[in-house]
Amino acid sequence: MNDRYWIERQKMVEEQIRHRGLQDARVLGAIAEVPRHLFVPAPAREASYDDTPLVIGYGQTISQPYIVALMTSALELRGAERVLEVGTGSGYQTAILSRLAVEIHTVELIPKLSARAARLFVLLKCHNVSVHVGDGSLGWPIAAPYDAIIVTAAAPALPAPLIEQLADHGRLVIPLASSNGYQLLTLVRCEGGRISEQVLASVCFVPLRGRFGVKG
Ligand code: SAH
Repeated sequence: MNDRYWIERQKMVEEQIRHRGLQDARVLGAIAEVPRHLFVPAPAREASYDDTPLVIGYGQTISQPYIVALMTSALELRGAERVLEVGTGSGYQTAILSRLAVEIHTVELIPKLSARAARLFVLLKCHNVSVHVGDGSLGWPIAAPYDAIIVTAAAPALPAPLIEQLADHGRLVIPLASSNGYQLLTLVRCEGGRISEQVLASVCFVPLRGRFGVKG
């Protein structure tokens, strides 16, 4: 999309993402295309391409561009995957996924955020995205299994339903709260029923709510 933020967006990809070592051409291409400023509410719009997370209302945030790129790269999408996203939020991460896989299911707890994102998916012709309102800590069983699952809110522990809904050879990326107060962005792989975990980065996300989320 050619818009007045195009140059800023290409600069963001080069300086914040590629120069920090993320090289997946499909991921960089998708991020270079999606108009991030449309997902950022008007008061913060001029900061849309800054190297930072931003508030999107209802106490929620849109992740820093580098973190979106890191999480998306870890999913290793090649184009044919079915993907589950927990935490639609602004819909920005969803719009990126929509360009990289065949079918995306995204679940959001807050109906108004979900509705706002759904309007943008129509505008941007993200026709392969199914929008759901509900508790995504339970996954979205009806469309399982998924080749990739991405959770964009921090969980106290790995939610069992998400592991159950992950296909063999699937990848799950999720921020997990650790005992010392930090959150660790974790890549979980499922290979022949064996689960392995790899820590990717220390991060700061809003809490995952719901049945397998943070209590209180
Ligand atoms: N990926 C988003 C960032 C969203 S912030 C973006 O690009 O904008 C995390 C989101 O997770 C919030 O919108 C919050 O309401 C949602 N959330 C928290 N717990 C949830 C749950 N159990 N199920 C679904 N959504 C949840």
